[in-house]
Amino acid sequence: MTYVVVGGGLAGAKAVETLRDEGYTGPITLFSTETDRPYERPPLSKGLLLGTDEPDSPFVHESGWYAAHDVDLRLGTTVTAIDRAAKVVRTGEGESVTYERLLLTTGSSPRPLPVPGGERALLLRTLEDSKRISDAVTSDTRVVIIGAGWIGLEIAAAARSRGADVSVVEMAALPLQRVLGDEIASVFADLHRSNGVKLHMNARLDRVTADTVELADGTSLPADVVIAGIGVTPNVGLASDAGLTVDNGVLVDRSLATSDPDIFAAGDIANVDHPFLKARVRVEHWATALNSGPAAAKAMLGQDVSYDRLPYFYTDQYDLGMEYTGWVDPSAAAPEVVIRGNVATREFIAFWLVNGKVVAGMNVNIWDVTDQVDALIRSGVEVDRARLANPDVPLPDLHA
Ligand code: NAP
Repeated sequence: MTYVVVGGGLAGAKAVETLRDEGYTGPITLFSTETDRPYERPPLSKGLLLGTDEPDSPFVHESGWYAAHDVDLRLGTTVTAIDRAAKVVRTGEGESVTYERLLLTTGSSPRPLPVPGGERALLLRTLEDSKRISDAVTSDTRVVIIGAGWIGLEIAAAARSRGADVSVVEMAALPLQRVLGDEIASVFADLHRSNGVKLHMNARLDRVTADTVELADGTSLPADVVIAGIGVTPNVGLASDAGLTVDNGVLVDRSLATSDPDIFAAGDIANVDHPFLKARVRVEHWATALNSGPAAAKAMLGQDVSYDRLPYFYTDQYDLGMEYTGWVDPSAAAPEVVIRGNVATREFIAFWLVNGKVVAGMNVNIWDVTDQVDALIRSGVEVDRARLANPDVPLPDLHA
C-alpha cells in the first residue's frame, strides 16, 4: 500500500509524520514543488522578517527526518495529473507513482497585482519570497504595501521595525474590515498609524511604475519596494482536472475524504463539511494545516475521523499579540460585538455573537484563554451580554 501526499507544506509534512506515528510502515511519497523541505509559514511574515527567528527555525522537521522515517521526499517535483482509474499520479518529469491512498495538500498561490506594472510587486508565500523581502527592506527604503490583510499588516510591522518608510494601500475603509468589522478593525488602523504607517484606505490602485505606486485619485506614492498581499487562490487545478468535486476548494466530508473515497484533502484547499459549524468551511490559516493534515492521515488509515476543530489563527504586530478562535459565517448578517476589557490600551477580548450565542472570540494581549473561548462557543448557550463584558466573571461561568 503506497500512500502519496501531494504538497510539501505544513499539512503534508504533518500528515506523513502522523502516518508514521500511527504505526503505518508501508511506503510513503511526499511530493513538493518547492526545493526547500517543508516549513511553517507564520515566521515568513513575522520572526524571519523581524530578524528575531533563526533562519533554520521554520522547518517542520530536521533535514534527516524524512530519510530516517523512510519517507520518500521528492522536492522540486510537480505532480501534474491524477489518473483515478489507474490510481496513479504523474509528475512533470513523466514519472508515475501508484497510490493506494492519496492526500492533496496543494495549498494556495498569492494573487498577482492586477494593474499595469503589477509584476513589480513582491509577493510573500515562500521562504525565498521572505528572504527577498528581507533583503529589499532596509532603514532607507520607501515601502508601499498593497492590501491591509494579514500579510500586508504583518509586513508593515516588520518593515517599520527595520526603520523603513511604510505606506499601506487598501480598497476597504479599514484594515481587516471584512474579517473583523469596523470596531475591531479600527484597533489595527490605530495601531499602525501610531507606529508611523501611512494608511491609504478606500484607495483604488491605478498602476505601478518603476519608482511609484499611482492611485486612481491622482495620489503618487514614491516606492523603492512594492509588496502585494491581496489574498490567495487555492491550488485546486490538479483536483478539478481529476474530476473531483471542487467548489471554493476541494469538497471534503467530515473525515476529509473527497468525492473519491481514496483521495483526501487538507489545509488551504479543503472545503470541509464541518460537523460542529454545520456549514462548509475553508480556512487558509496555519492551524488548519497543522491539524487537518494529521486528521486526514488518520482517516486514510481507516480511523473514524470527524474533523470539527474551530478555526484558529494568531498575529503579532508591534506590541499587539492576538489569537482568534471561531467562525463568523461570511454570508450572514454582521454579528453583534461585545468587548471585555480595554480597547484603548489594547488589552481585551472581543466576542462576536449571533442570536445571542458566541461564535468567535479574539483575545488581544490577554493569554491562555483560547480553550475557554472554544468551550464557550461549543456550549451554544445564549450569553448574558453584561456578564460576558465583565472581566470579573470567569468565562466558564457563562455556560456552567
Ligand atoms: P487577506 O488576509 O485576504 O487580505 C487581503 C487584503 O487585500 C484584503 O484586505 C483585501 O480587501 C485587500 N485587497 C484585495 N485586492 C486589493 C487591491 N487590488 N488593492 C488594495 N487592496 C486589495 O490575504 P493576505 O493578507 O494576502 O494573506 C494571504 C493568506 O494568508 C490569507 O488567507 C491569510 O488569512 C493568510 N495569512 C494569515 C496570517 C495570520 O493568520 N496571522 C498571516 C499571513 C497570512 P477586501 O477584504 O476588501 O477584499
